[in-house]
Amino acid sequence: MDREDPNPRMPYQLAMPSEAATDVVIPSVLPEDDRIWVPQADNIWFRPLCLSASQGYWVNLLKVTRSGVLTRHRHTNPVHGYVLKGRWHYLEHDWEAVEGGYVYEPPGETHTLIVPEDVSEMITLFQVNGLMLYVDPWGKTLGFEDVFTKIDMCRKHYTDCGLGADYVDQFIR
Ligand code: FE
Repeated sequence: MDREDPNPRMPYQLAMPSEAATDVVIPSVLPEDDRIWVPQADNIWFRPLCLSASQGYWVNLLKVTRSGVLTRHRHTNPVHGYVLKGRWHYLEHDWEAVEGGYVYEPPGETHTLIVPEDVSEMITLFQVNGLMLYVDPWGKTLGFEDVFTKIDMCRKHYTDCGLGADYVDQFIR
């Protein structure tokens, strides 16, 4: 800082930019209401935190129970992960992501997430940018997910479980 701030504890006095979005504040990322977990596949759920429709990424908790498998997929953009609970690894790598650990996945990665049999529940916070392409072992595309398919899954689940279709809106920016 070049110049001394004479009022270091004085709040900013001007309005935020009129085009700026509002904050997302979630007091407890691990929800008390289990209906907030959106089912994704056998033994796999996600819990939305920030669904950035404007920037094309999503931040969510991924929960996998009973040695579930997140099927093989390729990333077009980087992923950041922070393990809150349990452990997991990729079939394609020899390292293990452990509780309290951080992982970075570069664009171009294709991998298959496995939770070991002695872990009853794994929860990891992931920021996923761009596209996840589900592929066969030779890279042939089988399907995809992006922030818009995540929003659609949330809206359908929250409608079905009684939280309401607009419950997801609080996470969308
Ligand atoms: Fe991945």
